Amino acid sequence: MAKKIKAVLLLGAPGCGKGTQGKVLGTLLGFIHVASGDLFRALDKNSELGKIFLEYSNKGLLVPDDFTVRLWKDHVDRMVAAGKFNPQSDTLVLDGIPRNVAQARVLDPHIEVMKLVVMSVDRDREEVVRRLKVRATQLGRLDDAKEEVVRRRLEVYDKETAPLLSYYPLKLRVTVDALQTPLEVAHDIFAGLLGRTQELRPVKT
Ligand code: ADP
Repeated sequence: MAKKIKAVLLLGAPGCGKGTQGKVLGTLLGFIHVASGDLFRALDKNSELGKIFLEYSNKGLLVPDDFTVRLWKDHVDRMVAAGKFNPQSDTLVLDGIPRNVAQARVLDPHIEVMKLVVMSVDRDREEVVRRLKVRATQLGRLDDAKEEVVRRRLEVYDKETAPLLSYYPLKLRVTVDALQTPLEVAHDIFAGLLGRTQELRPVKT
């Protein structure tokens, strides 16, 4: 079997700032940031998968696993074909995928999880509801606009995504307080990753 792709996983409730920190890791360490939500939003809204995405995301639900994993795999394959990603040496930052244990199992043969960065908002859950309201206005995301949908996404996170915490070995886990400023959160993530950065091999060295 082909060598597994090295990956750092970002895990956290909607609105915790995974996208912001994923971009920071991509920019500063040269990791390749892949956000499943962005892949879905980039789909043609009239395509079959685009329609399926809207149907689920507008209700605050996860898109079925087979579509999601296929979208991710196709994206990675396209990056490889375009010479934008070298699976032998580059590291992925996965933001939003896997999002449940079933997806983690499907990804297992493809990725070697180097770290699991858990962005905790447990200190003040209502803060993410406030953040998502702001994002709804700034980015016009339909799934952020309705409070009931946001609350459903938080429930789905607790029920489906949080169990991933115990799926991966504890020694891989870096937990940060995601309610700090973005700079403080980035600081804590880097501090947590530091011991492994050699092995993670930044792209731009
Ligand atoms: P957030 O983390 O703020 O909810 P995302 O942009 O990561 O936002 O995801 C938006 C929506 O896209 C999710 O609510 C879900 O419907 C869909 N989605 C994204 N990633 C996945 C995934 N791995 N599995 C299933 N659905 C997903």
